[in-house]
Amino acid sequence: MITRQASCSCGQLHVTCEGEPRSVSLCHCLECQRRTGSAFGIAAFFAREALTVTGDASPFTRGSESGQAVTFHFCPICGSTVYWEPERFADVIALAVGAFADPSFPAPVQSVWESARHDWVTLPPGILRRPEN
Ligand SMILES: [Zn+2]
Ligand SMILES: [Zn+2]
Repeated sequence: MITRQASCSCGQLHVTCEGEPRSVSLCHCLECQRRTGSAFGIAAFFAREALTVTGDASPFTRGSESGQAVTFHFCPICGSTVYWEPERFADVIALAVGAFADPSFPAPVQSVWESARHDWVTLPPGILRRPEN
């Protein structure tokens, strides 16, 4: 089984992931834009039991359009968000795809919150596209 590692910029917070992600999703929502400092975020969803977290993480919880909270975990030293827990899917943890620093990571299968997509962002053919979540 493939093992991958996601980590923050300074490397003290890292997550080891066993197996392939259940899903990979690209999100254009304004909250993801603020969190990443970029035009969109990309999340890889893994079963909780597939992950091992090492290092210190600080939590930040916010509401979401669905009405359920999401708790982000970021490195208290360098500030990178490495993973988060969506309350509405209690058995999964989302990892920031950029934290893997791996250009061969599986591509997103869906693109959500297209209503907030920057006009210049184009997507691969065949990807599932949704105006909201
Ligand atoms: Zn760090
Ligand atoms: Zn989002």
